[in-house]
Amino acid sequence: MWGFYAAICSVLDKARICQKCRKKQVVAAKDRNKTVTCKYCGEDIPPPRK
Ligand SMILES: [Zn+2]
Repeated sequence: MWGFYAAICSVLDKARICQKCRKKQVVAAKDRNKTVTCKYCGEDIPPPRK
């Protein structure tokens, strides 16, 4: 059960939703804490705040 929960968390952690076009995209683990560019519309997506 914990392994499953951890897997869900790691997926959600890498998924980011563009504020402009609302599309979800997966961010590489190395870019997790960086601002990434939306691959659909080119908008900058800042890292999520916890
Ligand atoms: Zn976008």
